[in-house]
Amino acid sequence: MTKILKPNKENLTEVKKLILQDEVVAIPTETVYGLGANGLSSVAVNKIFKAKNRPQDNPLILHVSDYEMMERLVYGLTDELKLFLNNFWPGPLTVIMKAKKIIPKEVTCSLPTVAIRMPKNEIATDIISICNVPIAAPSANLSGKPSCTNAKDVLEDMNGKIPLIVDGGDCMIGIESTVLDLTTKPYTILRPGFYTKEDFLKFEDEILIDTALVKDGQIPKSPGQKYKHYAPKAKVLVLVSDDRKKVSFEISKILKENKNLKIGIFKFDQTILDVDSENILSLGSIFNLEQMSKVLFTGLRDFDKKNVDLIIVEGCKEEKLGFSIMNRLKKSASGNIKYLD
Ligand code: AMP
Ligand code: MG
Repeated sequence: MTKILKPNKENLTEVKKLILQDEVVAIPTETVYGLGANGLSSVAVNKIFKAKNRPQDNPLILHVSDYEMMERLVYGLTDELKLFLNNFWPGPLTVIMKAKKIIPKEVTCSLPTVAIRMPKNEIATDIISICNVPIAAPSANLSGKPSCTNAKDVLEDMNGKIPLIVDGGDCMIGIESTVLDLTTKPYTILRPGFYTKEDFLKFEDEILIDTALVKDGQIPKSPGQKYKHYAPKAKVLVLVSDDRKKVSFEISKILKENKNLKIGIFKFDQTILDVDSENILSLGSIFNLEQMSKVLFTGLRDFDKKNVDLIIVEGCKEEKLGFSIMNRLKKSASGNIKYLD
């Protein structure tokens, strides 16, 4: 049985004990829950891969609490680079840098580089600090499924596989960190996330986006991007239009033509009342995509709990945070996306 505990002092002492005994503990971060283990221990890291059923060639992110810890892990952490990172850290940014030998090959999957993040969530940073080791922590879901943004969803995927989940409530952001490769100049976005190209352009003259993120048929530079991802059990259909009414009309048509199917609907507030269904969830306002990113994964999971056959999600414009959200949605839908304009 897996325990769920609140992050008080006594419980964090237990977390420390478990992590330093090479066990895996689920921890909250501001993006999604992570499956945390001692990132310097091959034994501990292997347990993460086993619990998630993660492909062996998908490297992990090491989470650090400060630059001193990071210094021991990577080459090239200059004062100039720290100034750039200070604009985003602590926060939902992961950077790819040249790895030092101390990092086990299980973390990097034998790549010469490593992914590093300094999270903002105080429970996460407290855990890293008290353990005084970098914490390897991929998203705390079974590989292929939507990430978990609350302790209850983690329990659903991890019950019996790990000893403990730290319950830090709902994640503030809800989608994973932006992965930025610093080994190229200009820097390259390998996975879109909460921070967008526009955010980085405030401090850099140019930022590249891995071509695999914008063109089909390219091999992604981030190994994790090639796998099936974020997929609920139900089939997902994404409908996109600049005109909310067109989306309402298409959903009503699908509902009418498929009365034998149980259909879940995920729609923006502006036109949510257009659709007559009991299985409808709000994505918030089209003008507040932060809300959409916060509720997306947990909503997909909730529809699975209701055993729907099909989930229809209203898509958004692929710009800024919308670019990152649509990256996740397209994967959830395995490309089943319909543009109505
Ligand atoms: P997650 O499983 O959500 O923690 O995702 C971690 C992401 O970081 C995956 O997409 C990995 O492929 C990516 N990643 C980790 N290490 C590296 C690396 N050295 N180079 C490129 N991408 C990496
Ligand atoms: Mg993941």
